[in-house]
Amino acid sequence: MMDHRRSIPRTDVLLADPRLAEAGRRLGSERVKGVVVAMQQRAREGAISPEEVLPAALAALPASASGLRRVINATGVLLHTNLGRAPLSAAAREAVDRAAGATDIELDLDTGARGRRGRTALATLATAVPEAEAVHVVNNNAAALALAATTFAAGREIVISRGELIEIGDGFRLPDLLVATGARLREVGTTNRTAVRDYAEAIGPDTGMVLKVHPSNYRIEGFTASVPIAELEALCRRHRVPLVGDAGSGLLRPEPLLPDEPDVATWLRQGADLVTTSGDKLLGGPQSGLIFGRAELVEQLRRHPLARALRVDKLTLAALEATVGGPGTPTLDALHADAAGLRRRAGELAARLRDKAVAAEVVDSAGVVGGGGAPGVRLRGAAVALDERLAGVLRRGEPPVLGRVERGRCLLDLRAVPEADDETLLNAVLAVAHHVPD
Ligand SMILES: *Cc1c(COP(=O)(O)O)cnc(C)c1O
Repeated sequence: MMDHRRSIPRTDVLLADPRLAEAGRRLGSERVKGVVVAMQQRAREGAISPEEVLPAALAALPASASGLRRVINATGVLLHTNLGRAPLSAAAREAVDRAAGATDIELDLDTGARGRRGRTALATLATAVPEAEAVHVVNNNAAALALAATTFAAGREIVISRGELIEIGDGFRLPDLLVATGARLREVGTTNRTAVRDYAEAIGPDTGMVLKVHPSNYRIEGFTASVPIAELEALCRRHRVPLVGDAGSGLLRPEPLLPDEPDVATWLRQGADLVTTSGDKLLGGPQSGLIFGRAELVEQLRRHPLARALRVDKLTLAALEATVGGPGTPTLDALHADAAGLRRRAGELAARLRDKAVAAEVVDSAGVVGGGGAPGVRLRGAAVALDERLAGVLRRGEPPVLGRVERGRCLLDLRAVPEADDETLLNAVLAVAHHVPD
């Protein structure tokens, strides 16, 4: 026993190994030392031999200094909240990398004077939505709503339809957020029907704003009525009350594939004073909340003390600008991927898996937008169907692959997988496919 312990390599000797030294520069020397000490302990306990300490430490090193791992989203859900919603475009990633060091975020390099924070990102957003006189960016769409409610309606009333008091997900309820700002809700209409008259009767001296929310994650059908922005516009103008629209989905302009999703430009044209939306939904950018609309109102939001607590960092501004002004996004590519192309990719993957004796076949698969958007829209595509029992091992693999268990099989839906990742996906499946648990 003593001999065995004595032959365990010393910490300084192990840390001098070039591979561990390199890992120390990448991951931090304390972290690497922690892994080494843990493996020495395992050897002391007899779980591994002294010779195995170094290889075990190398194998146990994390891939990155961050615990967040890169995963392959084969769920068929474009905007998967648990997987970080929109994946950034290559242009946005490059912009984030560039902005990560010292950058001129609040400095005019020509004059040396202070410049408006994120002015190039704001200019890009303004160009994308010429209908807006001004733009402001906050942490997310919830923050955009909180800022608007606080600025216009704290201690006053927000007039809102009962059909638009929604829960977004994970227990996040819009009405609770609005009330938390100190505003009171003046609910009008009923769950299924609200008329312009209902709004008219509710608006009074205590009204701080009228809020129109796109109920993004559910649909009511049948005997229903809601009041479009265009009809609320005249009413709000007459009473000099701001008309705020929460479009939610992240579309700046209409998307032909999603005709029921509202977009910022259309709502502004129809007469909304302000429209808010998320940056990491269909826009395909970083988490952020975008507020477009009348200059004077945007300025009021910008000047509110709370605005400072909700502001975004340079990385977000960089990614947002590159998303809006740059080439297409992975989200849009995934949305527009045609069924035939997905079927061809699935066919190739399945054939290559079968070549290695892995049972795999191509099946039809319906993708969804997700992220609480476009309920009822099913995007026709294709998936590689595997043994259901592979779902767990794939999720724990490297890189982790997230599929969808359906009809007793593990489906790898290719809609949200960039084609460039097909090879990685194939290898990830091959690495575990022969380890089907019983
Ligand atoms: C998603 C969504 C929100 C919340 O947006 P976050 O950016 O996640 O804060 C609010 N309203 C609507 C209509 C939404 O769809």
